Amino acid sequence: MIFRFSAQQFVVKQCLILLASGLIGYWLGYFWLALFVVTAATLAWHYKFLLGLIKWLWHKNLLYPPESKGIWGHVYDGIYRRIKSYRKKQKQLNLRIRQYRDGAEALPDAAIVLDLYFNIRWSNKKANRLLGVRWPQDAGQRITNLVRSPVLNKYVKKMDFSEPCSIVSPDSPEQQIEMRFMLYGEDQYLMLARDVSQTKRLEKMRRDFVANVSHELKTPLTVMQGYVEVMLDQDDISEQWRKSLDTVQTQVSRMDRLVQQLLVLSKVEVPAEEDSRHNVHLPKLLDKVMEDVHWLNKQKGHEIAVEIDPRLGILGIESELKSACSNLIVNAMNYTGTGGRIDICWKKQGDYCLFSVKDTGCGISEFDISRLSERFYRVDKSRSRDTGGTGLGLAIVKHVAANHNAELLIESQLNQGSTFTIKFPASDSFTIRKLESAIN
Ligand code: ADP
Repeated sequence: MIFRFSAQQFVVKQCLILLASGLIGYWLGYFWLALFVVTAATLAWHYKFLLGLIKWLWHKNLLYPPESKGIWGHVYDGIYRRIKSYRKKQKQLNLRIRQYRDGAEALPDAAIVLDLYFNIRWSNKKANRLLGVRWPQDAGQRITNLVRSPVLNKYVKKMDFSEPCSIVSPDSPEQQIEMRFMLYGEDQYLMLARDVSQTKRLEKMRRDFVANVSHELKTPLTVMQGYVEVMLDQDDISEQWRKSLDTVQTQVSRMDRLVQQLLVLSKVEVPAEEDSRHNVHLPKLLDKVMEDVHWLNKQKGHEIAVEIDPRLGILGIESELKSACSNLIVNAMNYTGTGGRIDICWKKQGDYCLFSVKDTGCGISEFDISRLSERFYRVDKSRSRDTGGTGLGLAIVKHVAANHNAELLIESQLNQGSTFTIKFPASDSFTIRKLESAIN
């Protein structure tokens, strides 16, 4: 029943009761007594409903209010309607939460909701199977206390979630788990974890296969190279044979370079361990690289400008850095025409240390730049073949950069030239003192 409340009616009714009781009292000669009795009765009536209300709210688990009259009908009805609307909203909210949880349970990944301090708020059943996180028992625990991994600890401390974090399962060293953190809502993270052991195993098999095949090809290639050289040294071979043998020699050398690059690539593709990095005297390393490749410059006579900070060293893997730097320098020489200019620079700039190779060569179109570091991607296949290119150089540079927390940046304009830069964090650099340069 819906009570319509009117303040006017209520006041008029109260006044009429008091007036009637006053008149009757006056007529009987007990004016004040009559007023007192009526006021006390009204109070008792109100107390009755007030106590009824308290009993209903606190002691009875009923949705519907007890029978009531007058102004108390309005009070009971108002409270009843509020409760009903709250219950409806709560039901809808529960339904939404259930739908959201069912959705999270249906995910193929382990899903954990964390607060801003990485304490667990909720997790699905797969999180229990994969990471041993149980909900609600583990609610409030910090994720790094339950999933014990130094890699995860470091990742969470760094607060950079742009890349996923790969850890070895704390339960089984065979199992590799990949985790992603996403900030959502205002104050929570969604952490998704999946078992990537199979993918990693296949990746490793592919890498091992390429490395093994390349390794096996090395010996026959060396033998072929030897025999071709011996045959070319003979004075009595015909001009036709000499030409054929020259072609064989060129192709064998190309194949040999390809095999060498494949071996380097399979090595640098594996993320480097932190402790495999050492202080590298990069200025000295660049001197060596320039010595190795200067013969390439003889034919084309490039103008080469070198600006190297002689005191700037970097934490890294020397062989990898050598390979990356020489790939960039050789590319600049290969793809820059006769008389072009090449600027090689190694310096500190703000929070970064930059190794850059700038040339005035053929340049690369915007479309090709994005695909350049893919394996075997060449802008111009015939030109790359002419230069003896394998199409693996920039893929190697990209992996080396990733292994050094660095980034490969490419700027280029068609027919104007290109700048390839490896951007290292300055926090990995060190100042070379005399003693170190003597040792290196
Ligand atoms: P390659 O061994 O063929 O040079 P890379 O991986 O080193 O393979 O380079 C991939 C492709 O990028 C090359 O084939 C070439 O087309 C282009 N490229 C690389 N460096 C330069 C450069 N300095 N100027 C113009 N093009 C370049």
